[in-house]
Amino acid sequence: MKKRPKEPPEPMERYDTIRKYIIALLEEYTLSAKDISTYVRIPEKDVCDHLAHIKKTINKGNLHLLVQHAQCKKCGFLFKKRDRLTRPSKCPICHSSLIQTPLFSIRIVH
Ligand SMILES: [Zn+2]
Repeated sequence: MKKRPKEPPEPMERYDTIRKYIIALLEEYTLSAKDISTYVRIPEKDVCDHLAHIKKTINKGNLHLLVQHAQCKKCGFLFKKRDRLTRPSKCPICHSSLIQTPLFSIRIVH
């Protein structure tokens, strides 16, 4: 018998605050989703959801979410075509699982 975890209600206000916090962090630092999850204390998967939303909304102003592509540490393959913000698990060239995670930052573009 499976028990479904009860999801706590999340007011929009709280989400806004987390996004604002993530944006403030990325304006100062270049971080991976894992780094952000440590700072904000939410799961890495949730960070990726927030980043996807930030990416969509932030480009309306002069702030831009910059993504440094994931890269294979073994052969140097760059995951350029990858739109997803999550980390790829394996290199398609050498099948190594040593992947440098994507890094995120927010910069003002004039
Ligand atoms: Zn590789």
